[in-house]
Amino acid sequence: MSKSKKSQKTEAKKASAKSPHGGKAALKAAKSNGKVKGKAKPDGLAGLVLAEIGPDDPVRRIPLPPPRKATSRKLEPPTKLHLGKMTYSFEEGGADLRDLLGGKGAGLGEMTRIGLPVPPGFTVTTEVCRRFFELGRQFPNGLEEEIHRRVVELERKTGKEFGGEVNPLLVSVRSGARVSMPGMMDTVLNLGLNNRTCNALVVLTKNDKFAWDAYRRFVQMFATVVLGMKKEPFEEVLKRYVAKARVGSESELTAIAFRNMTSEYKALVRHYTKKDFPEDVFIQLRMAVEAVFNSWNSRRAIDYRKHSHYPDWWGTAVNVVTMVFGNMGTDSGTGVAFTRDPSTGQKKLYGEFLQNAQGEDVVSGTRTPVKISELEKQQPKIYRQFADVADKLEKHYHDMQDIEFTIERAKLYILQTRSGKRSAAAAVQIAADMVKERHITREEALMRIEPAAIAALLHAQIDEKHKAQILVKGLNAAPGAAAGIVVFDPDVAVEMKRENKKTILVRPMTTPDDVHGMIAAEGILTSQGGATSHAAVVARGMGKPAVVGAETMLIDLRARQFTVKGETVKEGDPITVDGTTGIVYRGLLPMAAAKLTPQFEHILKWADEYRRLGVYANADTPEDAKKARDFGAEGIGLCRTEHMFMEQERLPVVQEMIMAETPDSRRKCLEQLLPMQREDFRGILRAMKGLPVTIRLLDPPLHEFLPSLEDLLVEVTELRMGAKTDPTELSAKERLLRRVRQLHETNPMLGLRVCRLGIVFPEIYQMQVRAIMEAATELKKERVDVRPLIMIPGVGTVTEMKALRDLVSAEAERIIKAAGTRVNYQIGTMIEMPRACMVAHRIAEHAEFFSFGTNDLTQLVFGYSRDDAEGSFIPVYLEKKILREDPFQVIDQDGVGEFMRMAMERGRATREGMKIGICGEHGGEPHSVEFCHHLGLDYVSCSPFRVPVARLAAAQSVLKERQAEAAGAKKVDQD
Ligand code: PEP
Ligand code: MG
Repeated sequence: MSKSKKSQKTEAKKASAKSPHGGKAALKAAKSNGKVKGKAKPDGLAGLVLAEIGPDDPVRRIPLPPPRKATSRKLEPPTKLHLGKMTYSFEEGGADLRDLLGGKGAGLGEMTRIGLPVPPGFTVTTEVCRRFFELGRQFPNGLEEEIHRRVVELERKTGKEFGGEVNPLLVSVRSGARVSMPGMMDTVLNLGLNNRTCNALVVLTKNDKFAWDAYRRFVQMFATVVLGMKKEPFEEVLKRYVAKARVGSESELTAIAFRNMTSEYKALVRHYTKKDFPEDVFIQLRMAVEAVFNSWNSRRAIDYRKHSHYPDWWGTAVNVVTMVFGNMGTDSGTGVAFTRDPSTGQKKLYGEFLQNAQGEDVVSGTRTPVKISELEKQQPKIYRQFADVADKLEKHYHDMQDIEFTIERAKLYILQTRSGKRSAAAAVQIAADMVKERHITREEALMRIEPAAIAALLHAQIDEKHKAQILVKGLNAAPGAAAGIVVFDPDVAVEMKRENKKTILVRPMTTPDDVHGMIAAEGILTSQGGATSHAAVVARGMGKPAVVGAETMLIDLRARQFTVKGETVKEGDPITVDGTTGIVYRGLLPMAAAKLTPQFEHILKWADEYRRLGVYANADTPEDAKKARDFGAEGIGLCRTEHMFMEQERLPVVQEMIMAETPDSRRKCLEQLLPMQREDFRGILRAMKGLPVTIRLLDPPLHEFLPSLEDLLVEVTELRMGAKTDPTELSAKERLLRRVRQLHETNPMLGLRVCRLGIVFPEIYQMQVRAIMEAATELKKERVDVRPLIMIPGVGTVTEMKALRDLVSAEAERIIKAAGTRVNYQIGTMIEMPRACMVAHRIAEHAEFFSFGTNDLTQLVFGYSRDDAEGSFIPVYLEKKILREDPFQVIDQDGVGEFMRMAMERGRATREGMKIGICGEHGGEPHSVEFCHHLGLDYVSCSPFRVPVARLAAAQSVLKERQAEAAGAKKVDQD
């Protein structure tokens, strides 16, 4: 924060401490302090007669702020692409070229540079991918020739020849975006095989089984990935061969079987594509590179990007890597390992290994691998070498690594390293441990944790006390618990989500085609695969609970059911998955609140040292207030008093109050509600002692407390027609119906609600103010430090604000006088009407604070009904990219954000240093928190569970700002 801003803030703090009450006194005090600028207005006019801004009032005309220069977050591509060097050998690459070479390419380059055993290769840049799409899926000029030159270089380095008939060079063609998108894009292995090179391989390796196995795998992979064929026809051929040979698995098939299968596969290709399988290895390479580029725009990759908020323009790089083979016998194998446990963060090698296999066997989950510790027993020397490499990589990158390796005839090769995806729990543990181990600084630790992901840590776990029937046990792949109904089809999960139904997606194993269903489901359950299978990796990345490899479960996708030990679970049946323990239960189990680990507490404390924004909570009960405090809330930014009205024993009184036809009879009901409300406020104020508590006066339309008009109509009609109807009951129901009809509005969200309720029924607000102030004065006498802020909802005109400010301050002062104890309080308003933003400078004359109600503000700025939009057109808008994000979840910076900016600037133009926060749902959403930081708000307020998320997001906002400043300074230095 700049010095001047800081001093403004302290001045404002002092002023608000000195100015204990709202109303005229506060205004007067503020004016004499020079806090309220502008022309004095006649204050004595109670009621609704204040003049609004008039054309003859030049002093009050505040110009609109200029539009924001930069648009939203950095999602737009650089305006013009100057396509430079199109390919890089691994020796030329490195970690600093990540955006250009993708994560995988940069990693391979970096590992080559530090002398690790990486097979030679080269990378086609992400810029080329972008240009490929700009050109309508065409290679840019010169790319093909450049790739040829790179292949010649590879031939020189390996001593092999691409398409050669003596010592053929085979390559893998792998995708790799700048961030890891596991399994979302395509890869082709064993490329460079044709009839001639396969024969050469037979002679060279003296292993015809290996060569023909590689060839048939390549034909299938090329056909499915590059030619777009389905995998089923190939799998059927394979199944037929396995059955005919009467062997347990494909690895037991003979060389002749693989050779015959290759011919059958090629016949399938000819049949489906009406073309021969390409024999020319350069054509194979060109087609594979195109396919990898195209996979950037596959549905699963698009879905994944949307979920992760990655922009579409980034593109993927393509890595062409010399093939090494893990399936060359028992001294060969392949594996994936993390340098720390990606579920818990524990510091130990964690991973899987498969002897005599290729990488895809591990990732796809088709063969179940063994733990990496087995490798130690089988090939101790190689294991030690791998452990050393892992340690070196972690130290080099200062982060937990996810490493793919292959052993070819007892020689270790590292094929990839990347920062390992990890559960939120592991992210916190690893970040805190790495600070302790002096690998990284606190700032780095804070930047390593995804704020949205830590919400999962704060979510409920299955209540341990609860006894439940265990259905099946699998691998605890991604922590947290989730309950929902069983669905087997990812599309059904998406449909159910639209209907607000919670689901658990159950599949034999997931593939990238299931990603949209995984996003929609609450949790994932699979019967196959291990801790590094697709389901496990993707679920962890998404922060979704997952149990994988529950092998005793037999899934029948066609019948939409699964059976475990004779017990059947059908689609629609409720289950609960516990990704922390790997146990699946029948039914929807109750959940218990999460606990903060000491490491988590450390991280959050560090976050507090950096952040500028205050973090408050939205809490309506003393229990919520306590939870909010435990999670680090520094105050309550919104207490919605209507929730107190909804409680079972109060509702009849509330209904009676609404039914009342005169203010007197209404007051009688309110008197009954008074002690209950007072108790509520006592509880909350006590729980938050010493901290501000913002209490909002009643907000929702009154009919929300009454039975529905349709139900009542049916009831009254039935009573009227019934032979034995009790006339008193009928007349009571008829009276209720009359009142419900009177209160019925076509558009209740825009009707008699928010501050309009207080204008039409002032006695309701009076009762609430009395309850607040009586609770506050009583507690004050008990020496509890109370700081109530009374908030008027939905003000749109200065006259509303003035009238209600007068009403509130008169009642508050009356209670203070009667109690004989002064309590510091403030009166402010929610800014949730676009008009309020326009006249914020006038409203600020009577409001001591503002809080943005961005739920209503979004509704009104967009003109989208907040009750209907998300279930109706917003999913379509997101799909069609009319909207980039749901504006009810992420603040629309360009529209709603501009209204906020205008209101903030205008409010503070009148009342310097005015305290302004946000209490809409956006207050706990990380991108929106960052926006609020840049806007200059004082605090964000969100649900208690999101308080830690907001604390971290607020700290990251400061750190990102510093990084940007440092980068800017560096640029200037260089210039
Ligand atoms: C808002 O509108 O943003 C708000 C916090 O109020 P509510 O959601 O209760 O209308
Ligand atoms: Mg609102």
